[in-house]
Amino acid sequence: MTVTVVGAGPAGMAAARTAAEAGADVLLIDSGTKLGGQYHRQNSLYTGEKFALPANVTHLPDTAVWAVEPGPRLHLRTGPADGPGRTGRTIDADALVLATGAYDRALPFPGWDLPGVYTAGAAQAMAKGQRVAVGRRVLLSGTGPFLFPVAESLLGVGAEVLGVLEANHPVTGWLANPGGLLAGAAKAAELGRYLAVLARHRVPYRPRTTVLAAHGEHRVEAVTTARVDRDWRVVPGTEQRVECDAACVGFGFLPQLELAVAAGCALRDGFVDVDFTQRTSVPGVFAAGELTGIGGAVLSEDEGTVAGAAAAGAPVPRRALRGVRAGRRFAAALEAAYPIRSGWRDRLTGDTLVCRCEEVTYRALCDAVEKRDATGVRALKLVSRAGLGQCQGRICGRTVAELTGTETTAFSKRPIAAPVRLGELAEIPKEDKK
Ligand SMILES: Cc1cc2nc3c(=O)[nH]c(=O)nc-3n(C[C@H](O)[C@H](O)[C@H](O)COP(=O)(O)OP(=O)(O)OC[C@H]3O[C@@H](n4cnc5c(N)ncnc54)[C@H](O)[C@@H]3O)c2cc1C
Repeated sequence: MTVTVVGAGPAGMAAARTAAEAGADVLLIDSGTKLGGQYHRQNSLYTGEKFALPANVTHLPDTAVWAVEPGPRLHLRTGPADGPGRTGRTIDADALVLATGAYDRALPFPGWDLPGVYTAGAAQAMAKGQRVAVGRRVLLSGTGPFLFPVAESLLGVGAEVLGVLEANHPVTGWLANPGGLLAGAAKAAELGRYLAVLARHRVPYRPRTTVLAAHGEHRVEAVTTARVDRDWRVVPGTEQRVECDAACVGFGFLPQLELAVAAGCALRDGFVDVDFTQRTSVPGVFAAGELTGIGGAVLSEDEGTVAGAAAAGAPVPRRALRGVRAGRRFAAALEAAYPIRSGWRDRLTGDTLVCRCEEVTYRALCDAVEKRDATGVRALKLVSRAGLGQCQGRICGRTVAELTGTETTAFSKRPIAAPVRLGELAEIPKEDKK
Protein backbone atom coordinates (compact mmCIF):
# COMPACT_ATOMS: atom_id res chain seq x y z
CA MET A 1 0.00 0.00 0.00
CA THR A 2 1.00 3.64 -0.39
CA VAL A 3 0.70 6.16 2.42
CA THR A 4 0.64 9.78 1.26
CA VAL A 5 1.85 12.34 3.79
CA VAL A 6 1.37 16.09 3.30
CA GLY A 7 3.83 18.19 5.32
CA ALA A 8 7.46 17.31 6.08
CA GLY A 9 7.74 18.94 9.53
CA PRO A 10 8.28 16.93 12.73
CA ALA A 11 4.82 15.31 12.40
CA GLY A 12 5.01 14.48 8.69
CA MET A 13 8.58 13.16 8.82
CA ALA A 14 7.73 10.90 11.78
CA ALA A 15 4.60 9.65 9.99
CA ALA A 16 6.58 8.93 6.81
CA ARG A 17 9.37 7.14 8.67
CA THR A 18 7.00 5.00 10.74
CA ALA A 19 4.77 4.04 7.81
CA ALA A 20 7.86 3.14 5.74
CA GLU A 21 9.32 1.05 8.55
CA ALA A 22 5.98 -0.78 8.71
CA GLY A 23 6.45 -1.75 5.04
CA ALA A 24 4.34 0.85 3.22
CA ASP A 25 5.56 2.85 0.25
CA VAL A 26 5.38 6.50 1.27
CA LEU A 27 4.97 9.67 -0.74
CA LEU A 28 6.00 12.68 1.37
CA ILE A 29 4.87 16.00 -0.12
CA ASP A 30 6.00 19.43 1.05
CA SER A 31 5.92 22.89 -0.43
CA GLY A 32 9.35 23.61 1.05
CA THR A 33 12.58 22.74 -0.71
CA LYS A 34 13.93 20.77 2.24
CA LEU A 35 12.68 18.46 4.96
CA GLY A 36 12.06 19.80 8.47
CA GLY A 37 8.99 22.08 8.46
CA GLN A 38 9.11 25.05 10.82
CA TYR A 39 10.85 23.70 13.90
CA HIS A 40 13.68 22.06 11.93
CA ARG A 41 13.79 24.71 9.19
CA GLN A 42 17.11 24.32 7.39
CA ASN A 43 19.42 27.01 6.11
CA SER A 44 18.45 27.36 2.44
CA LEU A 45 21.98 28.54 1.60
CA TYR A 46 23.27 25.08 2.55
CA THR A 47 22.78 22.71 -0.38
CA GLY A 48 22.86 19.40 1.53
CA GLU A 49 19.95 17.64 3.24
CA LYS A 50 20.21 17.18 7.02
CA PHE A 51 17.56 14.46 7.41
CA ALA A 52 17.62 10.92 6.07
CA LEU A 53 14.45 8.88 5.53
CA PRO A 54 14.04 5.17 4.66
CA ALA A 55 14.51 4.24 0.99
CA ASN A 56 10.81 3.51 0.48
CA VAL A 57 9.94 7.17 1.21
CA THR A 58 9.72 9.30 -1.93
CA HIS A 59 10.09 12.95 -0.98
CA LEU A 60 8.40 15.44 -3.33
CA PRO A 61 9.91 18.82 -2.36
CA ASP A 62 8.76 22.19 -3.71
CA THR A 63 5.31 20.68 -4.21
CA ALA A 64 2.12 22.35 -3.03
CA VAL A 65 -1.09 20.41 -2.53
CA TRP A 66 -3.38 23.12 -3.78
CA ALA A 67 -6.67 21.22 -3.52
CA VAL A 68 -8.16 18.07 -2.02
CA GLU A 69 -11.35 16.42 -3.21
CA PRO A 70 -13.27 13.59 -1.55
CA GLY A 71 -11.62 10.24 -2.18
CA PRO A 72 -9.22 11.68 -1.08
CA ARG A 73 -7.86 13.01 -4.37
CA LEU A 74 -4.95 15.45 -4.16
CA HIS A 75 -4.00 18.06 -6.74
CA LEU A 76 -0.32 18.99 -6.74
CA ARG A 77 1.92 21.57 -8.37
CA THR A 78 5.70 21.12 -8.34
CA GLY A 79 8.15 23.97 -8.85
CA PRO A 80 8.81 27.40 -7.36
CA ALA A 81 5.50 29.06 -6.47
CA ASP A 82 6.50 32.27 -8.24
CA GLY A 83 8.23 30.63 -11.22
CA PRO A 84 6.90 29.47 -14.60
CA GLY A 85 6.67 25.87 -15.84
CA ARG A 86 5.35 24.20 -12.68
CA THR A 87 4.21 20.65 -13.31
CA GLY A 88 0.81 19.38 -12.24
CA ARG A 89 -0.18 15.99 -10.93
CA THR A 90 -3.23 14.33 -9.37
CA ILE A 91 -3.01 11.55 -6.80
CA ASP A 92 -5.67 9.25 -5.39
CA ALA A 93 -4.40 8.34 -1.93
CA ASP A 94 -5.01 4.93 -0.28
CA ALA A 95 -4.23 6.43 3.11
CA LEU A 96 -3.53 10.08 3.73
CA VAL A 97 -1.75 11.74 6.67
CA LEU A 98 -2.24 15.49 6.87
CA ALA A 99 0.56 17.23 8.78
CA THR A 100 0.34 20.77 7.47
CA GLY A 101 1.27 22.55 10.71
CA ALA A 102 0.25 26.04 11.77
CA TYR A 103 0.49 29.75 10.97
CA ASP A 104 1.77 32.17 13.53
CA ARG A 105 -0.82 34.68 14.71
CA ALA A 106 -0.56 38.45 14.67
CA LEU A 107 -3.10 40.76 16.34
CA PRO A 108 -3.69 44.18 14.76
CA PHE A 109 -2.68 47.46 16.41
CA PRO A 110 -2.16 50.97 15.01
CA GLY A 111 0.89 50.96 12.74
CA TRP A 112 1.18 47.17 12.37
CA ASP A 113 1.03 47.63 8.60
CA LEU A 114 4.27 49.68 8.55
CA PRO A 115 7.29 48.09 6.87
CA GLY A 116 9.48 46.81 9.67
CA VAL A 117 6.65 45.14 11.59
CA TYR A 118 6.92 41.36 11.16
CA THR A 119 5.27 38.32 12.57
CA ALA A 120 7.63 36.53 14.92
CA GLY A 121 7.41 33.48 12.63
CA ALA A 122 8.52 35.46 9.59
CA ALA A 123 11.49 36.86 11.52
CA GLN A 124 12.34 33.33 12.64
CA ALA A 125 12.02 31.89 9.11
CA MET A 126 14.33 34.59 7.68
CA ALA A 127 16.89 34.13 10.44
CA LYS A 128 16.88 30.33 10.22
CA GLY A 129 16.39 29.97 6.48
CA GLN A 130 18.43 32.85 5.04
CA ARG A 131 20.57 33.98 7.99
CA VAL A 132 19.01 37.44 7.65
CA ALA A 133 18.04 39.69 10.58
CA VAL A 134 14.81 41.65 10.05
CA GLY A 135 16.42 44.70 11.70
CA ARG A 136 19.38 45.93 13.70
CA ARG A 137 17.40 46.96 16.81
CA VAL A 138 14.46 44.63 17.22
CA LEU A 139 11.70 44.45 19.83
CA LEU A 140 9.66 41.26 20.31
CA SER A 141 6.11 41.37 21.65
CA GLY A 142 3.21 38.98 22.00
CA THR A 143 2.55 35.93 24.08
CA GLY A 144 3.88 32.41 24.34
CA PRO A 145 7.23 30.67 24.65
CA PHE A 146 7.81 30.90 20.87
CA LEU A 147 9.13 34.44 21.45
CA PHE A 148 12.24 32.87 23.07
CA PRO A 149 13.58 30.88 20.09
CA VAL A 150 12.85 33.89 17.88
CA ALA A 151 14.95 36.09 20.20
CA GLU A 152 17.73 33.48 20.15
CA SER A 153 17.67 33.27 16.34
CA LEU A 154 17.76 37.06 15.97
CA LEU A 155 20.72 37.29 18.35
CA GLY A 156 22.37 34.52 16.33
CA VAL A 157 22.24 36.62 13.15
CA GLY A 158 23.59 39.74 14.83
CA ALA A 159 20.47 41.73 15.75
CA GLU A 160 20.26 43.65 18.99
CA VAL A 161 17.13 42.40 20.77
CA LEU A 162 15.82 45.33 22.80
CA GLY A 163 13.42 43.24 24.83
CA VAL A 164 10.90 40.40 24.88
CA LEU A 165 7.48 41.71 25.94
CA GLU A 166 5.10 38.99 27.18
CA ALA A 167 1.48 40.12 27.56
CA ASN A 168 0.64 37.34 30.05
CA HIS A 169 2.37 36.42 33.29
CA PRO A 170 3.80 32.96 32.58
CA VAL A 171 4.96 32.31 36.14
CA THR A 172 1.43 32.58 37.52
CA GLY A 173 0.14 30.76 34.43
CA TRP A 174 2.45 27.76 34.84
CA LEU A 175 2.15 27.67 38.64
CA ALA A 176 -1.59 27.17 38.19
CA ASN A 177 -0.75 23.88 36.44
CA PRO A 178 2.71 22.59 37.40
CA GLY A 179 1.74 19.06 36.30
CA GLY A 180 1.30 20.31 32.74
CA LEU A 181 4.76 21.89 32.78
CA LEU A 182 6.29 18.66 34.10
CA ALA A 183 4.51 16.65 31.38
CA GLY A 184 6.52 18.63 28.84
CA ALA A 185 9.86 18.15 30.59
CA ALA A 186 11.87 18.41 27.35
CA LYS A 187 10.21 21.73 26.52
CA ALA A 188 10.74 22.98 30.07
CA ALA A 189 14.46 22.26 29.71
CA GLU A 190 14.48 24.09 26.35
CA LEU A 191 12.81 27.05 28.08
CA GLY A 192 15.58 27.15 30.70
CA ARG A 193 18.19 27.25 27.94
CA TYR A 194 16.48 30.21 26.25
CA LEU A 195 16.30 32.14 29.53
CA ALA A 196 20.06 31.63 29.92
CA VAL A 197 20.62 32.99 26.39
CA LEU A 198 18.53 36.09 27.16
CA ALA A 199 20.44 36.63 30.42
CA ARG A 200 23.81 36.25 28.67
CA HIS A 201 22.87 38.90 26.10
CA ARG A 202 21.20 41.11 28.75
CA VAL A 203 17.89 41.03 26.89
CA PRO A 204 15.11 42.24 29.24
CA TYR A 205 12.09 39.95 29.54
CA ARG A 206 8.98 41.93 30.58
CA PRO A 207 5.83 40.05 31.60
CA ARG A 208 2.45 41.84 31.42
CA THR A 209 3.87 44.29 28.88
CA THR A 210 2.98 44.75 25.23
CA VAL A 211 3.32 46.94 22.13
CA LEU A 212 0.38 49.35 21.70
CA ALA A 213 1.35 51.07 18.46
CA ALA A 214 4.14 51.34 15.89
CA HIS A 215 5.25 54.74 14.57
CA GLY A 216 7.21 55.92 11.55
CA GLU A 217 6.76 57.78 8.32
CA HIS A 218 7.85 55.20 5.75
CA ARG A 219 8.79 52.34 8.07
CA VAL A 220 8.80 51.62 11.76
CA GLU A 221 11.04 54.00 13.72
CA ALA A 222 9.62 53.49 17.22
CA VAL A 223 6.89 51.71 19.15
CA THR A 224 4.82 52.60 22.19
CA THR A 225 4.82 49.91 24.86
CA ALA A 226 2.89 49.71 28.12
CA ARG A 227 2.28 47.48 31.09
CA VAL A 228 -1.06 45.65 30.94
CA ASP A 229 -3.30 44.02 33.52
CA ARG A 230 -4.51 40.42 33.53
CA ASP A 231 -7.02 41.20 30.74
CA TRP A 232 -4.36 43.05 28.69
CA ARG A 233 -5.86 46.48 29.51
CA VAL A 234 -3.24 49.23 29.68
CA VAL A 235 -2.04 50.30 33.12
CA PRO A 236 -2.33 54.11 32.83
CA GLY A 237 0.92 56.04 33.02
CA THR A 238 3.15 53.11 31.99
CA GLU A 239 3.40 54.00 28.28
CA GLN A 240 6.94 54.28 26.91
CA ARG A 241 8.38 55.10 23.51
CA VAL A 242 11.10 52.72 22.32
CA GLU A 243 13.20 53.53 19.24
CA CYS A 244 13.71 50.48 17.01
CA ASP A 245 13.89 49.57 13.33
CA ALA A 246 11.90 46.33 13.55
CA ALA A 247 9.10 45.01 15.76
CA CYS A 248 8.11 41.34 15.74
CA VAL A 249 4.74 40.24 17.07
CA GLY A 250 3.57 36.71 17.80
CA PHE A 251 0.39 35.69 19.58
CA GLY A 252 0.58 31.91 19.36
CA PHE A 253 -0.40 29.73 16.42
CA LEU A 254 -3.45 28.82 14.37
CA PRO A 255 -3.74 25.45 12.62
CA GLN A 256 -3.38 25.35 8.84
CA LEU A 257 -6.74 23.70 8.28
CA GLU A 258 -7.64 24.23 4.64
CA LEU A 259 -6.72 20.75 3.31
CA ALA A 260 -8.40 19.02 6.26
CA VAL A 261 -11.54 21.10 5.84
CA ALA A 262 -11.58 20.40 2.08
CA ALA A 263 -11.19 16.67 2.77
CA GLY A 264 -14.28 16.88 5.00
CA CYS A 265 -12.57 16.26 8.36
CA ALA A 266 -14.65 17.26 11.39
CA LEU A 267 -13.20 19.94 13.65
CA ARG A 268 -13.36 20.31 17.41
CA ASP A 269 -12.50 23.54 19.28
CA GLY A 270 -10.84 24.90 16.15
CA PHE A 271 -8.59 21.88 15.46
CA VAL A 272 -8.95 18.65 13.48
CA ASP A 273 -10.79 16.11 15.61
CA VAL A 274 -8.86 12.82 15.85
CA ASP A 275 -9.17 9.58 17.81
CA PHE A 276 -6.29 8.00 19.75
CA THR A 277 -4.75 6.68 16.49
CA GLN A 278 -4.93 10.16 14.90
CA ARG A 279 -7.76 8.99 12.62
CA THR A 280 -10.05 11.82 11.49
CA SER A 281 -13.78 11.58 10.81
CA VAL A 282 -12.99 10.76 7.14
CA PRO A 283 -12.09 7.11 6.49
CA GLY A 284 -8.44 6.74 5.42
CA VAL A 285 -7.49 10.27 6.46
CA PHE A 286 -5.25 10.89 9.50
CA ALA A 287 -4.02 14.17 10.98
CA ALA A 288 -0.97 14.88 13.11
CA GLY A 289 0.98 17.79 14.55
CA GLU A 290 -0.22 21.32 15.10
CA LEU A 291 -3.34 20.65 13.02
CA THR A 292 -4.78 18.79 15.98
CA GLY A 293 -3.59 21.17 18.75
CA ILE A 294 -0.65 23.43 19.54
CA GLY A 295 1.87 21.58 21.69
CA GLY A 296 5.31 21.91 20.07
CA ALA A 297 7.60 19.75 18.00
CA VAL A 298 7.89 16.79 20.40
CA LEU A 299 4.12 16.25 20.53
CA SER A 300 3.92 16.72 16.75
CA GLU A 301 6.52 14.03 16.25
CA ASP A 302 4.77 11.57 18.58
CA GLU A 303 1.44 12.20 16.85
CA GLY A 304 3.16 11.67 13.49
CA THR A 305 4.56 8.32 14.67
CA VAL A 306 1.08 7.20 15.77
CA ALA A 307 -0.55 8.41 12.54
CA GLY A 308 2.11 6.80 10.32
CA ALA A 309 1.71 3.41 12.01
CA ALA A 310 -2.09 3.56 11.91
CA ALA A 311 -2.15 4.70 8.27
CA ALA A 312 0.10 1.74 7.31
CA GLY A 313 -2.17 -0.65 9.22
CA ALA A 314 0.58 -1.46 11.74
CA PRO A 315 0.32 -1.60 15.55
CA VAL A 316 0.71 1.83 17.11
CA PRO A 317 3.94 2.15 19.18
CA ARG A 318 3.10 2.45 22.88
CA ARG A 319 5.94 4.85 23.59
CA ALA A 320 4.51 7.31 21.07
CA LEU A 321 1.01 6.92 22.52
CA ARG A 322 2.39 7.74 25.99
CA GLY A 323 4.22 10.71 24.47
CA VAL A 324 0.99 11.99 22.91
CA ARG A 325 -0.84 11.74 26.24
CA ALA A 326 1.89 13.67 28.10
CA GLY A 327 2.25 16.14 25.24
CA ARG A 328 -1.44 16.95 25.30
CA ARG A 329 -1.28 17.66 29.05
CA PHE A 330 1.57 20.05 28.32
CA ALA A 331 -0.39 21.61 25.42
CA ALA A 332 -3.42 22.23 27.67
CA ALA A 333 -1.20 23.88 30.29
CA LEU A 334 0.46 25.96 27.55
CA GLU A 335 -2.90 27.22 26.33
CA ALA A 336 -3.96 28.10 29.89
CA ALA A 337 -0.68 29.90 30.63
CA TYR A 338 -0.70 32.02 27.47
CA PRO A 339 -4.35 32.91 26.69
CA ILE A 340 -5.41 35.68 24.31
CA ARG A 341 -7.17 38.25 26.52
CA SER A 342 -9.82 40.65 25.28
CA GLY A 343 -7.89 43.85 26.12
CA TRP A 344 -6.05 43.72 22.76
CA ARG A 345 -9.20 45.11 21.15
CA ASP A 346 -8.76 48.37 23.09
CA ARG A 347 -5.78 49.24 20.86
CA LEU A 348 -7.92 49.34 17.71
CA THR A 349 -8.89 52.77 16.41
CA GLY A 350 -11.34 53.28 13.54
CA ASP A 351 -8.38 53.70 11.18
CA THR A 352 -6.49 50.58 12.25
CA LEU A 353 -6.22 48.14 9.37
CA VAL A 354 -7.66 44.76 10.25
CA CYS A 355 -7.18 43.14 6.81
CA ARG A 356 -3.87 44.42 5.45
CA CYS A 357 -4.15 42.86 1.95
CA GLU A 358 -7.41 44.65 1.14
CA GLU A 359 -6.75 47.60 3.50
CA VAL A 360 -9.98 47.11 5.45
CA THR A 361 -10.11 49.28 8.56
CA TYR A 362 -11.73 48.39 11.86
CA ARG A 363 -14.34 51.12 11.17
CA ALA A 364 -15.19 49.59 7.76
CA LEU A 365 -15.57 46.16 9.33
CA CYS A 366 -17.89 47.52 12.04
CA ASP A 367 -19.91 49.38 9.38
CA ALA A 368 -20.27 46.18 7.36
CA VAL A 369 -21.90 44.49 10.32
CA GLU A 370 -23.81 47.39 11.89
CA LYS A 371 -24.94 49.36 8.85
CA ARG A 372 -25.04 46.72 6.10
CA ASP A 373 -26.06 43.75 8.20
CA ALA A 374 -23.20 41.56 6.90
CA THR A 375 -23.29 38.40 8.98
CA GLY A 376 -21.58 35.15 8.12
CA VAL A 377 -18.26 34.83 6.38
CA ARG A 378 -19.51 35.13 2.80
CA ALA A 379 -21.45 38.34 3.39
CA LEU A 380 -18.60 39.79 5.43
CA LYS A 381 -16.10 39.12 2.66
CA LEU A 382 -18.34 40.52 -0.06
CA VAL A 383 -19.37 43.64 1.85
CA SER A 384 -16.07 44.56 3.54
CA ARG A 385 -13.56 42.64 1.31
CA ALA A 386 -11.79 41.42 4.47
CA GLY A 387 -10.07 38.10 3.73
CA LEU A 388 -10.36 38.43 -0.05
CA GLY A 389 -6.77 39.54 -0.65
CA GLN A 390 -3.53 37.75 -1.31
CA CYS A 391 -3.35 35.93 2.03
CA GLN A 392 -6.98 34.78 1.69
CA GLY A 393 -7.64 35.42 5.36
CA ARG A 394 -4.66 33.45 6.69
CA ILE A 395 -3.48 36.52 8.64
CA CYS A 396 -6.74 38.37 9.34
CA GLY A 397 -9.42 35.64 9.17
CA ARG A 398 -9.43 34.65 12.83
CA THR A 399 -9.30 38.29 13.96
CA VAL A 400 -12.15 39.29 11.63
CA ALA A 401 -14.18 36.32 12.86
CA GLU A 402 -13.61 37.20 16.51
CA LEU A 403 -14.35 40.90 16.03
CA THR A 404 -17.61 40.18 14.19
CA GLY A 405 -18.82 37.23 16.23
CA THR A 406 -18.42 34.82 13.28
CA GLU A 407 -17.55 31.14 13.74
CA THR A 408 -13.76 31.20 14.29
CA THR A 409 -12.75 28.59 11.69
CA ALA A 410 -15.07 29.96 8.99
CA PHE A 411 -12.16 31.53 7.08
CA SER A 412 -10.39 28.14 6.85
CA LYS A 413 -12.77 27.02 4.10
CA ARG A 414 -10.43 27.74 1.24
CA PRO A 415 -10.96 25.23 -1.60
CA ILE A 416 -7.83 26.47 -3.38
CA ALA A 417 -5.29 25.99 -0.62
CA ALA A 418 -2.24 27.43 -2.39
CA PRO A 419 -1.97 29.99 -5.21
CA VAL A 420 -2.37 28.54 -8.74
CA ARG A 421 -2.34 30.37 -12.05
CA LEU A 422 -5.38 30.36 -14.33
CA GLY A 423 -3.24 28.69 -17.03
CA GLU A 424 -2.33 25.91 -14.60
CA LEU A 425 -5.97 25.41 -13.70
CA ALA A 426 -6.82 25.08 -17.38
CA GLU A 427 -4.21 22.36 -17.97
CA ILE A 428 -5.31 18.71 -17.99
CA PRO A 429 -3.40 17.12 -15.08
CA LYS A 430 -1.46 13.92 -15.52
CA GLU A 431 -3.48 11.21 -13.75
CA ASP A 432 -1.40 9.27 -11.29
CA LYS A 433 -3.64 6.77 -9.57
CA LYS A 434 -2.02 4.93 -6.68
C1 LIG B 1 6.83 30.36 11.05
C2 LIG B 1 6.93 29.39 12.22
C3 LIG B 1 8.16 29.17 12.86
C4 LIG B 1 8.25 28.30 13.93
N1 LIG B 1 9.47 28.12 14.54
C5 LIG B 1 9.54 27.38 15.69
C6 LIG B 1 10.75 27.28 16.43
O1 LIG B 1 11.77 27.83 16.05
N2 LIG B 1 10.74 26.55 17.58
C7 LIG B 1 9.60 25.94 18.03
O2 LIG B 1 9.63 25.31 19.10
N3 LIG B 1 8.46 25.99 17.33
C8 LIG B 1 8.38 26.70 16.20
N4 LIG B 1 7.20 26.81 15.53
C9 LIG B 1 6.08 26.03 16.02
C10 LIG B 1 6.19 24.76 15.16
O3 LIG B 1 5.33 24.90 14.06
C11 LIG B 1 6.01 23.42 15.75
O4 LIG B 1 6.20 23.20 17.03
C12 LIG B 1 6.38 22.24 14.84
O5 LIG B 1 7.21 22.59 13.77
C13 LIG B 1 5.07 21.70 14.35
O6 LIG B 1 5.31 20.59 13.55
P1 LIG B 1 4.28 20.15 12.43
O7 LIG B 1 4.91 18.96 11.79
O8 LIG B 1 2.92 20.03 12.98
O9 LIG B 1 4.21 21.37 11.39
P2 LIG B 1 5.32 22.19 10.58
O10 LIG B 1 6.67 22.04 11.16
O11 LIG B 1 4.75 23.55 10.47
O12 LIG B 1 5.31 21.48 9.15
C14 LIG B 1 4.23 21.60 8.27
C15 LIG B 1 4.73 21.42 6.86
O13 LIG B 1 3.61 21.31 6.00
C16 LIG B 1 3.90 21.94 4.78
N5 LIG B 1 2.65 22.29 4.13
C17 LIG B 1 1.61 22.99 4.66
N6 LIG B 1 0.61 23.10 3.76
C18 LIG B 1 1.02 22.46 2.65
C19 LIG B 1 0.43 22.25 1.37
N7 LIG B 1 -0.80 22.71 1.06
N8 LIG B 1 1.15 21.58 0.43
C20 LIG B 1 2.39 21.11 0.71
N9 LIG B 1 3.01 21.28 1.91
C21 LIG B 1 2.32 21.95 2.86
C22 LIG B 1 4.74 23.15 5.18
O14 LIG B 1 5.58 23.56 4.11
C23 LIG B 1 5.55 22.61 6.36
O15 LIG B 1 6.83 22.17 5.96
C24 LIG B 1 7.10 27.63 14.40
C25 LIG B 1 5.88 27.82 13.74
C26 LIG B 1 5.78 28.69 12.67
C27 LIG B 1 4.44 28.89 11.99
